[in-house]
Amino acid sequence: MTDLHRLSIREMAEGLKTAQFSSRELTQHYLDRIAKIDAQVQSYVTVTPEFALAEADAADAAIKAGNAGLLSGIPLAHKDIFCTKGIKTTAGSKILDNFISPYDATVVAKGKAAGLVTLGKVNMDEFAMGSTSESSYFGATKNPWALDRVPGGSSGGSAAAVAADLAPIATGTDTGGSIRQPASFCGLTGLKPTYGRVSRFGMIAYASSLDQGGPMARSAEDCAYLMNVIAGHDAKDSTSVNKEVDDYVANLSGTSVKGLRIGIPKQYFNVAGLDAEVKARVEESLKKLEEMGATLVEIDLSMTDAYVPTYYLIAPAEASSNLQRFDGVRYGYRCENPVDLMDLYKRSRSEGFGKEVQQRILIGTYALSAGYYDAYYVKAQKVRRLIQQDFLKAFESVDVIAAPSAPTTAYKIGANLSPVEMYLGDIYTIAVNLAGLPAINAPVGFDQDNLPVGLQLIGNYWSESQLLSVVHQYQQVTDWHTKRAAIAEENA
Ligand code: GLN
Repeated sequence: MTDLHRLSIREMAEGLKTAQFSSRELTQHYLDRIAKIDAQVQSYVTVTPEFALAEADAADAAIKAGNAGLLSGIPLAHKDIFCTKGIKTTAGSKILDNFISPYDATVVAKGKAAGLVTLGKVNMDEFAMGSTSESSYFGATKNPWALDRVPGGSSGGSAAAVAADLAPIATGTDTGGSIRQPASFCGLTGLKPTYGRVSRFGMIAYASSLDQGGPMARSAEDCAYLMNVIAGHDAKDSTSVNKEVDDYVANLSGTSVKGLRIGIPKQYFNVAGLDAEVKARVEESLKKLEEMGATLVEIDLSMTDAYVPTYYLIAPAEASSNLQRFDGVRYGYRCENPVDLMDLYKRSRSEGFGKEVQQRILIGTYALSAGYYDAYYVKAQKVRRLIQQDFLKAFESVDVIAAPSAPTTAYKIGANLSPVEMYLGDIYTIAVNLAGLPAINAPVGFDQDNLPVGLQLIGNYWSESQLLSVVHQYQQVTDWHTKRAAIAEENA
């Protein structure tokens, strides 16, 4: 079969269980596509054919023996921020270029237990800091829809791999939009779960109170399958929540769009820098949801102007603390011929970290330093609480909140936005992380350059099933999620 990569996850699982094809065939199909096409996209940092084929054979044996896991034999790509035992895990950084993890992240372990086959590790902004994937030490990943454009970030490799059909599903992480924004730029569906729903154990930390892993795929249905595997409490992550996990697949039709109250924040559609076509496509998608029976309700999120400054204090502050562990002593990059311990620390970190990471460590350290702690960090934490309250108040009168995922479509590679311009691009995604809420991106059309546009739906805590269900129903009556970039049409 030459078109195995066109199947949905449900169809792949059925095909494997009814022996229409084996996991080895399916896995080899993706490995062949990666070998042929990824030189143009550069989504993978590491491809692991031997691991993948061994896992595929194990899955085939399990399927034959009748004891297969939920997704036995289905390939996926992991963002290179998840530790993978025996496979290089870099977080897109030179400082971890030689790091082979001695253990699996919980998300990876759960994937293995469910029978998923790891094709490899995909590119990302260094330590997940960025919105373009250009800050990776391994070079820029290309957007499959336009190879001179970025795929977004930080989970840009995950998005590009799925959009080019170099993996059917991928894991991503979202600290301030890193699942939703690349999903938007690459025409995919991506879910950022409620903080605490997916274990952070073995997921290299950027900003621990904001980081959350989640699925990236073509459709809400495909995302639901991966969520069924990765969600759940983990004793190894003290912030993961011990709460029953939904069956996201079974719940796909569980929410009625008829009567659904969708909040439209009046501040969000007047943001300077919101592209007119993005606005138009998002409004069209809302019109469609209205036709399906939803009601649009204007809401007030008065803290909107505070999102970017608040996030860009808290995230770097936590990063400066988390990244202290990369000191050239225990693991990772070490400078050559240090003259003393201070020199070893200084040079290992200056040579090992890229510019964006160093900039954020400096900002974060400043915000946490004794003289400025109250003025910056403590104040940002207070504002964070107000942002959360703003959302909770809104959810008293609406079921979900709609927004663009990003104010623009994908940027040109090398556009070299100033830090402030770049950070303003996160306006629609970061408040969700500050509040710990779940949110989803769904593709809803294209701009005049044929670049994908995404709609974001933000839910109340633990409403992942509802978000997936609403998008699933939208995807039953629209076909944006089925559109493929030209490069994905190429056969291996
Ligand atoms: N673009 C945001 C940042 O650079 C978000 C990144 C993320 O979610 N990891 O911090």
